Amino acid sequence: MSESKTVTAPEGVSGKGAAGVRFHGVNKAFGTNVVLRDLDLDVAPGERVVIIGPSGSGKTTILRVTMTLERPDSGTVQIGGRHLYHEQHGDKLRPAREKHISEVRSDIGMVFQHFNLFPHMTALENIMLAPMKVHGKSRTEASDVGMELLNKVGLAHAANQTPGQLSGGQKQRVAIARSLACEPRVMLFDEVTSALDPELVGEVLNVLRDIAQEGNTTMLLVTHEMAFAREMADRLLMFDNGQVIESGRPADVLDHPQNERTQAFLGAVK
Ligand code: ADP
Repeated sequence: MSESKTVTAPEGVSGKGAAGVRFHGVNKAFGTNVVLRDLDLDVAPGERVVIIGPSGSGKTTILRVTMTLERPDSGTVQIGGRHLYHEQHGDKLRPAREKHISEVRSDIGMVFQHFNLFPHMTALENIMLAPMKVHGKSRTEASDVGMELLNKVGLAHAANQTPGQLSGGQKQRVAIARSLACEPRVMLFDEVTSALDPELVGEVLNVLRDIAQEGNTTMLLVTHEMAFAREMADRLLMFDNGQVIESGRPADVLDHPQNERTQAFLGAVK
């Protein structure tokens, strides 16, 4: 851009904008294993919330419930003020129909630890799939958006390669580009660097930094990368046993944890 001053796009021009997420009284059990316990959590539009905690504490489950990959046993989840699992009838909430759930869910994107790309499709085809199938975009439109996103994650040159021809870091960058293709208002990242060789972690974190900087997506991240959590998070949540046991600014939680389970966890991961 030749102009040095920042130009703000008029409302409605810069995409759909970030959406808040609100969990209220969310419970989830697998058989007798209670995984989320009466969870209340408010995430502001555009906020970057990082979730840390021991293995098995329910971190992935809260993301999967938000993505509708798991249904909560009770409680409510709202995305951008709209109920995900309920429909409002006057002042009453009724269980939502599938059509409503998938409509609200279309505002959410998720990136997984193990990429989950279709192995027989090229990088570009992987990205084009949802815009065409779910959002009815033409092949040309989807391809244009796909190329733009591949460019953004530094992989325009790999458009016609299949996942088997890409490194782990490249696969994860394609997966991130794919999740951005539907312009999500909320992005969920589940340990997206933990399957990568250490030298490939940085390239993926850089892409996350770029997304964060654009600021039009709410981000919920589960990670073991404490330095990254410190840098990225507006708020850090410590999960244990299906509950948030401590939350605050990352420097406060990481340097001065108040809860003894947080202290023990951080002592073990440092
Ligand atoms: P974390 O991400 O903190 O490691 P998870 O949310 O993955 O924890 O898992 C929390 C608990 O729920 C674990 O005990 C796990 O074994 C159990 N769990 C998760 N998903 C399922 C499932 N689909 N079926 C049965 N148990 C599950």
